[in-house]
Amino acid sequence: MASPDTAADASTELPEGSRYDLRHDLSPDAPEVENYSEGDGAFGYAHSYEAGSSVDGPGVRITLFLSGCPLQCQYCHNPDTWKLKHGIKISLDRVVARLGHFAPALRAMKGGLTISGGEVLVQAAFSQRILRAAKSLGLHTAIQTSGFLGERATDEYLKNLDMVILDIKSGDPETYRRVTKQELAPTLRFAERLSAMGKPVWVRFTLVPGLTDDPANVEAVAKFVAPMKNVEWVEVLPFHQLGAFKWNALGMNYTLANTPPASPELVERVLGQFRDAGCNAR
Ligand code: SF4
Repeated sequence: MASPDTAADASTELPEGSRYDLRHDLSPDAPEVENYSEGDGAFGYAHSYEAGSSVDGPGVRITLFLSGCPLQCQYCHNPDTWKLKHGIKISLDRVVARLGHFAPALRAMKGGLTISGGEVLVQAAFSQRILRAAKSLGLHTAIQTSGFLGERATDEYLKNLDMVILDIKSGDPETYRRVTKQELAPTLRFAERLSAMGKPVWVRFTLVPGLTDDPANVEAVAKFVAPMKNVEWVEVLPFHQLGAFKWNALGMNYTLANTPPASPELVERVLGQFRDAGCNAR
């Protein structure tokens, strides 16, 4: 029989919202990311979902933001997704019911489901079950990931995925460490694995003046990605300050408070570097 707590969780609705909503302490008893063991993935922690996104994969999509991330990107605009405790504990059944509600419209608009975060692979079992359900609803499926936990995406996991949006946050390992406090190598290994299996990928590179914009750092990403036939697009995302308020609200030290947005000239230079290397960049 379900415990009273579990029964209460099972009735919780997935909050519709925006990646720019601040979520805070919704599950104060949740474990830390590094101690999290999710079992069979019948429950997970989510920040919110957005309906109608046109930037997180092909067509019009539902984007589900899961909680938990082992990276600490200086430019993160969702630091309230780093800890599981800031998300809401939600049952797989509730997520799938929500998806089912939107599925006919998503199919009609040639869209689907993208699971983002946070880092989706912190909750590999939960997200795998959501992706499987989405496929059975006839939806196109994608995840957006840093690739840092790519080894958790088993071949079975990838079978339910039509594409991966892979953030390669820097090409120089030292810069990657400065940006994320983690190592670059696992992301590159995951990219190579996706390439070997021919899984469609969009690579994302966030362009931060003074942090990721060094020509050699960009060049390293471009040269790595260019030979990969499965990479359909490289998307250059200009840094912005829309997430700054979250760092302040959560009492976190925001190191980029004085960093300007990426200028159109800088964006053009970096797009040019990717195109010169042979990538489809936008
Ligand atoms: S990987 Fe994404 S969610 Fe995690 S810290 Fe970096 S930008 Fe934020």
